Amino acid sequence: MSKDATLGNKHYGPGTRVVAAGRKPMDHHGFVNPPVYHGSTVLYPDVATMKTGQKYAYGRRGSPTMESLEVALTELEGGRGTKLVGSGLAAIALTFLSFVRANGHVLVPDNVYQPSRHYCETVLKRLGISTTYYDPLIGAGIADLIQDNTQLLFLEAPGSQTFEMPDIEAIVTAAKARDVTVAMDNTWATPLFFRPLDHGIDVAVYAGTKYLVGHSDAMMGTVTANADAWRPIHDTWGASGLVSGPDDIYLAQRGLRTMDIRLQRHMASALTIARWLEGRGEVSRVLHPGLESDPGHELWKRDFSGSSGLFSLILKPGPQEAVAALLDNLELFGLGYSWGGYESLAIPFDCSSYRSTTKFEPEGPALRLHIGLEDPDDLIADLEAGLDRWREAGGGS
Ligand SMILES: *Cc1c(COP(=O)(O)O)cnc(C)c1O
Repeated sequence: MSKDATLGNKHYGPGTRVVAAGRKPMDHHGFVNPPVYHGSTVLYPDVATMKTGQKYAYGRRGSPTMESLEVALTELEGGRGTKLVGSGLAAIALTFLSFVRANGHVLVPDNVYQPSRHYCETVLKRLGISTTYYDPLIGAGIADLIQDNTQLLFLEAPGSQTFEMPDIEAIVTAAKARDVTVAMDNTWATPLFFRPLDHGIDVAVYAGTKYLVGHSDAMMGTVTANADAWRPIHDTWGASGLVSGPDDIYLAQRGLRTMDIRLQRHMASALTIARWLEGRGEVSRVLHPGLESDPGHELWKRDFSGSSGLFSLILKPGPQEAVAALLDNLELFGLGYSWGGYESLAIPFDCSSYRSTTKFEPEGPALRLHIGLEDPDDLIADLEAGLDRWREAGGGS
């Protein structure tokens, strides 16, 4: 590290990669972490340099703070470049906007993160761009949905809330045969457990808000592109004035350094708790592709090297009051949106109203859990007491 480290083609393990990626201590007098540059105006030494240009021109266009995280993520993903924006949703919006044209068409999985669907139904629709929501389990059948004006195929795996696993290989192969750009929301797996660009995907999109930041204290979106997709992403980012603030970038970079060790813990605890839930009479099904019983398990095992802390479960039939009795008095699980921080969270969900191609008809109430870094035995005890309250309030078992 006394010289500028670059991961290059070295086969370092994931723990080493998140620690070493993008670090250049000797650029900062040897300090381990880069300084946080707050700035709009960047001064030039003279008129001649204003004409020829210099590395940093204006706060919106880039800074050493932005660059250090961009370089780190580009190395981790094996990409051509990365852009940072203010939220995961902004990263998704940037990705769509970079590839669509008037009267175009995009393909989006029916189980996509709901705000991504909302973006297609509002902004893209207004621009004359139509969306087909495909069955995430369509596989090679996606070829039949590709139109002459299809400009982007969007993937999310596993699907938001319901965790279906698409056949990424079959879908990407069909898209590539028609020269369609492919982007993937890979927030769940992080580049530690799945590297989209290694699988022929052109653009990897993340809500950095989740595991990258990792402490529920900042919003962040990141977009990493391969060489084919880099120009459109870079230019649309620049034209749109999308930025992320230096303090949030610093928090994301700090989160990155511990992401491997945190993810190992999230994975192990989530699998332990998911298996425990599978054995409970109150639980009808657990939706987690890392479980051997999950319909997506084989595809997950083929493509992913790990699983994170987020999964769902379907309870046996029961009244809404019983769901509230379960959730309201949990001691360690907070009730709140987002996930990826160090703490455990729970939400009830129902995505049946906005799916359009596939049906979500659970046999009982659906819950999504984020398993945090607490001791898993304590989390199990908390859930066990919750399931007791569920039964007492009339929930099935
Ligand atoms: C949370 C989330 C987003 C959006 O991220 P924000 O930073 O909240 O805008 C996008 N995709 C997935 C899968 C998410 O879970």
